[in-house]
Amino acid sequence: MKVVIVAKTRMRGGACIGALTFDGRSLRLIAKDQETNNNFNMDYQVGEVWEVEVSEDAQITPPHVENVIVQRKRRLAPMMKIDQFIEKQMPPLPGGVEVIFDGLTQPTSTGTLYIAERNGLPSRSTIFWRPNQALRRDDDRKRIRYRYPTGDGGRTLTFVGFQRPVSEIPAGTLLRVSLAHWWRPREKPEGELRCYVQLSGWFPYKIPTKPQPVPAQRIQKRTYENKIPEIDQVLNQVFGYQDFRHLQREIIANIFRKQDSLAVMPTGSGKSLCYQLPATLLPGMTVVVSPLISLMEDQVLELREWGIPAVYLNSSLTHSQYLETLARIKSGQIKLLYAAPETLLRPETILLLKKCRVECFVIDEAHCISEWGHDFRPEYRQLAGLRAQLPQAVTLAVTATATQRVRQDIKKSLLVSDANEFISSFDRKNLVLSVVDKIDALEQTRDLIDAHKGQAGIIYCSTRDRVDTLSEQLQMLGYPVLPYHAGMESDARRRHQHRFRYEEGIIMVATIAFGMGINKSNVRFILHYNLPKNLENYYQQIGRAGRDGLSADCLMLYSYGDIATIRYFIEQEDPKRRSGSEHRLKTLLAYTDTHTCRRKPLLSYFGETYEKDDCEACDNCLHSGTEHLAAGLELTGDESGTQQVDLTTPARQYLVCVKETGEIFGMMHIINILRGSKSKKVLGKGHDRLSSYNIGLEYTKKQWRYLAGQFIRQGLLRRVQPHGSLELTSVGEAVLEGKKVWGVVPGYITKPTASKVDLEYDSDLFEQLRSLRTKLAGERELPPYVIFHDRTLTEMAAYYPRTSEDMTRIYGVGKHKLEQYGPHFLPVIKAYCKEKEIEPVNVPSMSIAQAKTARGRKRTQYIWERFQAGDSIQAIASELGFASSTILNHLKKAFVSGKPIRLDGLKDASELSQADEKGVMKAFEEFGTYRLRPVFDALDQTASYDQLHIWRLIYRITTE
Ligand code: ADP
Ligand code: ZN
Repeated sequence: MKVVIVAKTRMRGGACIGALTFDGRSLRLIAKDQETNNNFNMDYQVGEVWEVEVSEDAQITPPHVENVIVQRKRRLAPMMKIDQFIEKQMPPLPGGVEVIFDGLTQPTSTGTLYIAERNGLPSRSTIFWRPNQALRRDDDRKRIRYRYPTGDGGRTLTFVGFQRPVSEIPAGTLLRVSLAHWWRPREKPEGELRCYVQLSGWFPYKIPTKPQPVPAQRIQKRTYENKIPEIDQVLNQVFGYQDFRHLQREIIANIFRKQDSLAVMPTGSGKSLCYQLPATLLPGMTVVVSPLISLMEDQVLELREWGIPAVYLNSSLTHSQYLETLARIKSGQIKLLYAAPETLLRPETILLLKKCRVECFVIDEAHCISEWGHDFRPEYRQLAGLRAQLPQAVTLAVTATATQRVRQDIKKSLLVSDANEFISSFDRKNLVLSVVDKIDALEQTRDLIDAHKGQAGIIYCSTRDRVDTLSEQLQMLGYPVLPYHAGMESDARRRHQHRFRYEEGIIMVATIAFGMGINKSNVRFILHYNLPKNLENYYQQIGRAGRDGLSADCLMLYSYGDIATIRYFIEQEDPKRRSGSEHRLKTLLAYTDTHTCRRKPLLSYFGETYEKDDCEACDNCLHSGTEHLAAGLELTGDESGTQQVDLTTPARQYLVCVKETGEIFGMMHIINILRGSKSKKVLGKGHDRLSSYNIGLEYTKKQWRYLAGQFIRQGLLRRVQPHGSLELTSVGEAVLEGKKVWGVVPGYITKPTASKVDLEYDSDLFEQLRSLRTKLAGERELPPYVIFHDRTLTEMAAYYPRTSEDMTRIYGVGKHKLEQYGPHFLPVIKAYCKEKEIEPVNVPSMSIAQAKTARGRKRTQYIWERFQAGDSIQAIASELGFASSTILNHLKKAFVSGKPIRLDGLKDASELSQADEKGVMKAFEEFGTYRLRPVFDALDQTASYDQLHIWRLIYRITTE
């Protein structure tokens, strides 16, 4: 390849050579054999054109990411107008000293600049600069230095070029700036790596007049409103989806209208489709900036499976891949280009984009723009400037996390109007949220994994040590787990992340270091082995589950030890930050301790009010059933999980013991007394003579710990710092005076809420399809979920599609995927049906499927419609596979929401004699409908609870 030598800097006995290729890439040329060549690299001169044959340097010495090794070289000719060449191939940045490696450099007190390590290596180590002020020579004893004046004393740059130093470098001179060696302050061995910024040469030629950038506003953007009617068809045929999700249609229409927009939607809600779909219809290219390399890769792979040409540019590409990608972009065949911000901001990339027709510019993870966000990235600030260079393009900023302040910030820096802000609810309906006390963490972990056999999950721990020990323990038990934390070798980390993405059923045990950019759609559970730091982190972490819309379990283990640790760290903090941290802990505890729907405190943290009383997908909602339980009934039907029972007796026993010992002992000592321990401490204090000694043998030690945890969380007891001794609260006193306590049977709740399968399907066929997917994915080197999501396989195993026509109705099967994979999957399904003699199911009966899949209101609606249309309770129950009481429950909900209910349909289900019916109605009048038990007793237990449920509804309908 041909290169132009643009710099030569001093390096011990030789020179370090900077070159520029004819496609605008900066290289640092290294000799093949440094030792034998004393004067190495001295033969190059700045301004010469050379033909070189290079190989990539396997061992890049930071920060020199441009290193290549010269295998062979040949001098061609001098280049006359080197400044013009640079101007064209690697446009210099004009401005003050702050534009040098903008955002990455920081001034030190001595005036030297350094670059802090943010994400490992910088993406480049050279740039060109035209300073807006003159630099004056300011040597120290050893080095030639130049000083750029600033308000706070100036910044000094060491000069390392071969030119004869001048006393002043005029403003506007073309300068080359590069990064020098990597170092770490000796007094801060844990501090970040940094390196010097140095001047590596100047070009005292004529300064070309600056091209005037055209203000973006003045350019009439071409709109494509005529494309809007086509979007439904594209959704269907290309992506294989039936309907748009919330806000997608509006956002897409806005893109075609060329209105810059901001979309704030939770992870997994389908933000990507908002730009992927328009990209297929727009002439020209859509550019997506994303900081997450693995996410880019996944999306590009997935887009290709849909038949949409997409590429990415980031630091993971080899040089030849990079060149190949550039060629494809230039040829105009690419619809979507993904790029890391650093890559995009490289002058040569900007130049390339200006030549292409960029119609849409997408900023993913847009919260990185804001300094108020938790992920601020300085490069993101520069993206605003980049937009001015692409005046034709419409901008879409998307993010899953943005507080009010961050949203304002994004809108302001991207000039997005309020009208073009789209905020969807943060509720992720398919995540089943639960919190349980940590009793035996390992056992609880195993329970959760066992409930998700063969499925992928993430277990979050608070420390690296914990990650190591837990993953070892689980590995010994034969579980497919892998550890992941920032203390591991980066190679091992990469390997583990790769396996998680490419293999089925891997469980990652990790610190919070894991998860950014995990696009895997079928993560089926998230376990918080330790408490998360705050709700925002928590929400981000659980957000990685269930991106495919199928339900996923999010279980948090609650322990006082963890809270004590968090408190301890807060106490160590700078007092200024402490109140913020305390507030965050408080909101976290409000979430863990709530007795209402967990979505209320969670969503309220994000400024949303959750209106419903029953989300049907959190432990509190799924297990609330006290109304039935008070009547002595167990919950029946498909929606019951854990039973709440009367815990008044153990609560009193525990409280009495606390009182008898003077409210100065901790949880375990009380338990030891209750269980009749003969320990030194118990006997020594004479606690074996207490009335509560040895009265609690009914429960094991572990169960008592669980019970005590519940009593504390229900507010019967309070822990007193610093030793965690227990004291009765006024609620506790009330219990001693007769107040009842409800709670969960210890031992039962350690079983997590297993995800419900959202659609009934043939699991044998599913397994066959899944292994076919694994095989195809292996052959093609794709993550399996890029071929088909679990949801797609589930539908195939439920509806047995046997023709291409059938196939197109399956979730996520678009035209291209049908062509690619139909010939593989259809024969397997056909053979399976033949062997098992399964009759063809024609059109999937969507109404039933949807009723079974949908939670909450949709399901109630379906059941109510069927009932009003004349179907009996029994018939609906057997069709859906639910208990009759569940159907009645939904009808009750429908009634409460104001819908009429067919009385004759209810009476048809009654088995009572007319006389009994009268008696029941009278009893309800007398005792009310809140609890069934008094009515049950008043009727001498002649009417079953099933019957009472029916009659209670009849009573309400006729009297309200
Ligand atoms: P986000 O970027 O918001 O985290 P994604 O864009 O990755 O979420 O979308 C999550 C999943 O939902 C993807 O698998 C995507 O293909 C799918 N999806 C998006 N829109 C729809 C839709 N309208 N119907 C069905 N599935 C969709
Ligand atoms: Zn709930």
